Amino acid sequence: MHKEKLLRLSDISNFRFVVVGSGFSGSVFAERIAGVLKERVLVVEKRSHIAGNAYDFKQGGILIQKYGPHIFHTRHKDVWKYVSRFTEWLPYEHRVLAYIKGKFVPLPFNFAGIDAFFEKDDAEKVKQALIKEFGKGSKVSVLALMRSKNETVQKLGAFVYENVFLHYTTKQWGVPPEQVDRSVISRVPVNISYADTYFEDPFQGIPKDGFTKVFERMLADENISVTLNTDFDALFEVDSKKKKVVFKESRKPFNGFVIYTGQIDRLFQYKFGALNYRSLRFAFETHKKPFYQKAAVVNYPNDFDFTRISEFKHFYGIKSEKTIIAKEYPCTLSEGKEPYYPFLDEQNKSLYERYEALASGFPGLILTGRLANFKYLNMDEAIKRALSAFSERFGKSIR
Ligand code: FAD
Ligand code: UDP
Repeated sequence: MHKEKLLRLSDISNFRFVVVGSGFSGSVFAERIAGVLKERVLVVEKRSHIAGNAYDFKQGGILIQKYGPHIFHTRHKDVWKYVSRFTEWLPYEHRVLAYIKGKFVPLPFNFAGIDAFFEKDDAEKVKQALIKEFGKGSKVSVLALMRSKNETVQKLGAFVYENVFLHYTTKQWGVPPEQVDRSVISRVPVNISYADTYFEDPFQGIPKDGFTKVFERMLADENISVTLNTDFDALFEVDSKKKKVVFKESRKPFNGFVIYTGQIDRLFQYKFGALNYRSLRFAFETHKKPFYQKAAVVNYPNDFDFTRISEFKHFYGIKSEKTIIAKEYPCTLSEGKEPYYPFLDEQNKSLYERYEALASGFPGLILTGRLANFKYLNMDEAIKRALSAFSERFGKSIR
């Protein structure tokens, strides 16, 4: 377990660097400050554990991911090299199944899906039309299929939209796909081939000892102090007029650097209004059988209130009599719920820009991460941003 270094409030003024949040964004920053600048840094984390949404822990010999299935994948060699300092990897290629019309088919939807739902001759016709239009082996958005001038391609687009995207997206985001940013749906393409891996990045894996261990190693430097169960709001406030972070009790300015990775709207007490985030409820179940399902993740676009079921054993190939699964129920963000997904529409993007402009006027304040930047970032992108923000500000690149 990560050893929390306890500290008194009066100690905080001894730090020049305060990092808010111990997910990848905050932990990368803390590691760089301690490792490269050789400065002391305080990490303030409101949860009872480090690792942000990548947190995992063992239950009955199985590593469970508390905040849903996390698979590390990246095309950025520098990011892969950096994270690999803190872990060895188990090779893992993520494959997802979708339950559609009583059948389990690969996701992204591919030629195997076409074979499953079309008569042999029709399936051949559809596959040839797709290859002709997009090229064999390509990956295209369902929206591109729907826009096609070729009737066969267009019909397939309508089928995939109806059976894969429409109902899943409506459950996940609470609105139909037209009201969700296109980039969100385009994360999952249609494969013009039999390719059945969920990600196409060249670097992909599961950390050998789990994600939490990666963070323990990142935060191990003796110059890093971590205080858990501590909300930034309990210690500090922002003074928007003076453009300063101030101590909550004394209201004296904090003259060091604050690296903030929490919600940007919450940091400024929602002064321009609340940003919209989507939340989730995870229902964990233990089953007395070696495996519950055939893949680590199975999506249920059209049936049930949950969107997907994760079975964690698949990541590590663990052999045991029991298995643990988590069903994901999307919901609105309310008291006690976590802001898992930024809701990206024009209104929220422009509201975010107002907060961002305000934050940029604070000299010692650095905002980075999925919540602070209000961006749908994967782990590698959060790491890349934190590394870049560090080197832009402090002039040292990865060493
Ligand atoms: P977070 O991990 O959210 O960390 C922020 C931390 O700040 C949290 O620990 C929070 O408690 C703390 N905090 C916030 N406000 C305060 C405050 N006021 N005071 C103190 N502490 C505070 N990415 C992938 O690459 N692959 C995947 O397979 C994948 N699967 C995902 C599945 C789900 C269900 C979700 C929700 C996300 C998934 N992601 C995945 C995305 C991944 O979780 C993020 O990229 C990553 O967590 C971003 O790291 P972060 O440090 O910016 O934010
Ligand atoms: N999506 C969908 N059906 C699926 C899988 C994904 O409609 O079976 C859409 C949905 O809008 C989702 C988005 O594609 O929010 C991105 O999916 P991804 O699997 O990347 O979501 P995440 O793992 O980040 O929750």
